[in-house]
Amino acid sequence: IDPEDARYLISRIRTIAGFPEKGINFRDIMPVFADQRGLSILMDALVASLPVAPDDFDAVAGLEARGFLFGPTLANRLDKGFIAVRKAGKLPPPVRSQSYALEYGTATVEIEESAIRVGERVLVVDDLIATGGSASAARDLVIACGGKVAGFSFVMELEGLAGIAKLGGYPASALLTMP
Ligand code: AMP
Repeated sequence: IDPEDARYLISRIRTIAGFPEKGINFRDIMPVFADQRGLSILMDALVASLPVAPDDFDAVAGLEARGFLFGPTLANRLDKGFIAVRKAGKLPPPVRSQSYALEYGTATVEIEESAIRVGERVLVVDDLIATGGSASAARDLVIACGGKVAGFSFVMELEGLAGIAKLGGYPASALLTMP
């Protein structure tokens, strides 16, 4: 990503200390979407920084909720379809479920079984990778449905958590590294 564009994107990301809990620096990407230039830079940069060539994947899978904001646009720009990875209980059966550990408790994500064809190569996207727990759960769901993970694309990566290193060696990219 061009340094000037990176600066502009970062200037549109709002940081809220202590949200949703004490000790968390919440990185709010919504102002990027609200801003014509921010959105345009974001989409161009995501397309330009894909971790795999467009010919090497068939579909984009986005994590609820912020992966839904740009996943379908990215998919459409690349002539791919979009697959929703949702929080438990939202999708009609038959679904595949995957639970993962949070700092306190667990979370579960789901995918519609029919959303992925056997052998389909899927690029997983989300706004931010922290521990990598959510993206790893999405990876496991893609595999459980018979798909193949082609790679991961994030807007932000949190420094120091080594989230990308926990994904299992798949091609992965993040536009911005945030402290
Ligand atoms: P993780 O599973 O730990 O990699 O967390 C990633 C998921 O939680 C993504 O869906 C993010 O949108 C959200 N998330 C985690 N940490 C933050 C943060 N500091 N600011 C904004 N979103 C976050």
